[in-house]
Amino acid sequence: MKRIGFVGLGNMGLPMAANLVKAGYEVVGFDIQQRARARGSDAGMKIAESAVAAAHRADAFISMLPASEHVESLYLGVDGEGAGLLDRMESETLLIDCSTIAPQSARRVATAAQECGIAMLDAPVSGGTAGAEKATLTFMVGGDARHLERARSLFAAMGSNVFHAGPSGAGQVAKVCNNLLLAVQMVGTAESLALGVANGLDPATLSEIMRRSSGGNWALQVYNPFPGVMPDVPAARGYRGGFLVNLMIKDLGLAMDNAQTVGADTPMGSLAHDLYRALRSEYDAGDLDFSSIQRHYIEE
Ligand code: NAD
Repeated sequence: MKRIGFVGLGNMGLPMAANLVKAGYEVVGFDIQQRARARGSDAGMKIAESAVAAAHRADAFISMLPASEHVESLYLGVDGEGAGLLDRMESETLLIDCSTIAPQSARRVATAAQECGIAMLDAPVSGGTAGAEKATLTFMVGGDARHLERARSLFAAMGSNVFHAGPSGAGQVAKVCNNLLLAVQMVGTAESLALGVANGLDPATLSEIMRRSSGGNWALQVYNPFPGVMPDVPAARGYRGGFLVNLMIKDLGLAMDNAQTVGADTPMGSLAHDLYRALRSEYDAGDLDFSSIQRHYIEE
């Protein structure tokens, strides 16, 4: 692996591609936004004029796009009518989609790639923009394990954990399961802290008690949602930065759609989805960090 095409140089894609440059890969990037292309160039990438040009003669091609529709239209073309990237690229290039999208969408694109003789992995990530910058992302990979091995050095340049979740789409299933749990855990943590504070307890003391007790969890350890308890977390800066409520709502929507498809019962995820949507409309919180769910319980 030497030459890497990279499309989608946004909050996640730009630092991921920049880490590939730092690791010595020749990265050819593309984004539909001029500002993103300029940042890519500043980070040492060559910038292509189109996604097709970025994919030209690439050993691997990585996409990091907002949602299912962007990924499907990139690879399959608009309305599935062809003229997508799959029709215009070399079969030797390994495709890796790191976007968070619906598992059925990932399977659809991987199947179409296979029909063109092109190998594809779904490899959504966890770790946020900080993980993308520090190259500590976790990759959840779906697809043939042999292709994962081909891409292992790329994943190592961008992250610190790589898991093979199963066949195509399995990476996306793992991602929606993880984020469903993350949302439920964050809502539960905010709710417990609000209950304690309503009884006159100090939120920092209560946080420490629960962190060291059976309620201990990731939010209490490193991402406390209650303002004033922890420094250097979104709650300490008015919930700016971090993992946006809009993205959490998107991921919970993917989890709910998937649960319906497979007939799974997910009442906790459904309630968390409702609470996050209420938070967005009541507090205009779409662009705030997801720990701002604390505001649903206690106004600052
Ligand atoms: P973003 O909106 O910052 O970046 C997406 C980029 O894709 C933008 O620069 C946009 O211009 C570009 N783009 C859209 N359509 C394109 C096309 N057809 N061709 C080329 N470029 C195109 O989003 P992000 O925060 O980087 O998230 C990307 C993906 O990663 C999403 O699926 C998100 O759910 C997932 N994710 C995000 C985070 C996070 O903390 N931001 C964490 C884990 C996973």
